[in-house]
Amino acid sequence: MKKIAFITGSSRGIGRAVALRLAEEGWAVGINCLRSADLARQLAADLRAQGREAAAFQADVADRAAITAAIRGAEEALGGPVSLLVNNAGMAEQHLFQDIPEDFWRRIFAVNVDGAFHAIQAVLPAMIHEKAGCIVNISSIWGQRGASCEVAYSATKAALIGLTRSLAMELAPSGIRVNCVAPGVIHTDMVEVLGQETLASLAQETPLGRLGTPEDIAHAVAFLADGRSSFITGQVLTADGGFIL
Ligand code: NAD
Repeated sequence: MKKIAFITGSSRGIGRAVALRLAEEGWAVGINCLRSADLARQLAADLRAQGREAAAFQADVADRAAITAAIRGAEEALGGPVSLLVNNAGMAEQHLFQDIPEDFWRRIFAVNVDGAFHAIQAVLPAMIHEKAGCIVNISSIWGQRGASCEVAYSATKAALIGLTRSLAMELAPSGIRVNCVAPGVIHTDMVEVLGQETLASLAQETPLGRLGTPEDIAHAVAFLADGRSSFITGQVLTADGGFIL
């Protein structure tokens, strides 16, 4: 099976680093963005200029038809079915539980959980047919432990862990592996809203003494995607500098 990866939400941040790393490791990469079509197209063009195979597709993962069409587009452009899906697209907002607006609650589940559901259902028929494939879901340490003002986000990220474990059991007989990466605090646009002071104290609270980088998470994804990880399924790989030890 040709090495074709599709990474949701990959025009920036962790998703972008995953796309770059997988391309380096010989994967043809389907890049997906919600709004930043220029950034996504530029990333694909830069990769092609380096002799890699890449194509970019704009789609909201919460929209089943749109993300399915994006995946079909990537398969056509890259010349085969997706054999590695990285469910990275995600959103976060901090709210006191009592103040969570209902439309935000619906939207964060639609993106963080339904998005993975839609993308997995789009790639599964070909993976089952090939009796091979790999799915990596990007959860969070907040899916593993509690955090004040993060109830909605934590609930979506815990849902991804439950999805990973059960789907891994269901798909193991089909030769398909399903794993999760649970990042700690990673320095991307998503955490910039916390402000420099909070980020500095989070770095201090991290036993390894720094915030994570998108490349730290890309490395964990590449490890799980590698053929040498073929006995690893249903796992949550925490990459957090020791934050929740
Ligand atoms: P980010 O905000 O830079 O990137 C998120 C990406 O997802 C963006 O490109 C965004 O456009 C895309 N996206 C959002 N909604 C989408 C949608 N509906 N359809 C398609 N794409 C969509 O943040 P990041 O830190 O790179 O986050 C990547 C993933 O890692 C997220 O799932 C996030 O929850 C998770 N994560 C991040 C951290 C962290 O500290 N940064 C920690 C744990 C987990």
